[in-house]
Amino acid sequence: MLPQVIIIGRPNVGKSTLFNRLVGKKLALVDDQPGVTRDRRFGEAHLLGLDFTIVDTAGWEDEDAASLPGRMRQQTEASLKGADVALFVIDARAGITPLDEEIARYLRTSTVPIVLLANKAEGRSGDPGIYEAFSLGFGEPVALSAEHGQGMADLFEALLPHL
Ligand code: GDP
Ligand code: MG
Repeated sequence: MLPQVIIIGRPNVGKSTLFNRLVGKKLALVDDQPGVTRDRRFGEAHLLGLDFTIVDTAGWEDEDAASLPGRMRQQTEASLKGADVALFVIDARAGITPLDEEIARYLRTSTVPIVLLANKAEGRSGDPGIYEAFSLGFGEPVALSAEHGQGMADLFEALLPHL
């Protein structure tokens, strides 16, 4: 059985873009079926010789703010079950938001190793967010651009000790 890697993060940070890049083919978008909530999507990922199952999570997209914490806990707990490592994605351009901090609090209670990813960091556009991301307590973030395929070798190196 392949090791399992979960992508977690607030909406719009680029989780599905990263999933598609790692799976290597254009899959249907998460929201291509209106009204259908698909919390998780599984794919077979290949990254520089590493093979693993990748899980895209999308359970928090349509929730109103009031229901977020409980929903988030549910989603996170379900997703982390059986995961070998979690990729916690933030948007380096947007910087750290209260929702990022909320997710970080949940992830800190987990025994699953966390790799922090600062996405949308093509060029130097993500620098402020990369520095801010240190405050989440998961060490130095891996800067990458899922859309442009930058930082994938650094992602490989960050994953390697956990798989
Ligand atoms: P998700 O909600 O976390 O699954 O985010 P998506 O993968 O749907 O991406 C949200 C938006 O961010 C889309 O418009 C993407 O094109 C954009 N995006 C994703 N990755 C990058 C990136 O590396 N750089 C930039 N500039 N935009 C990105
Ligand atoms: Mg998505």
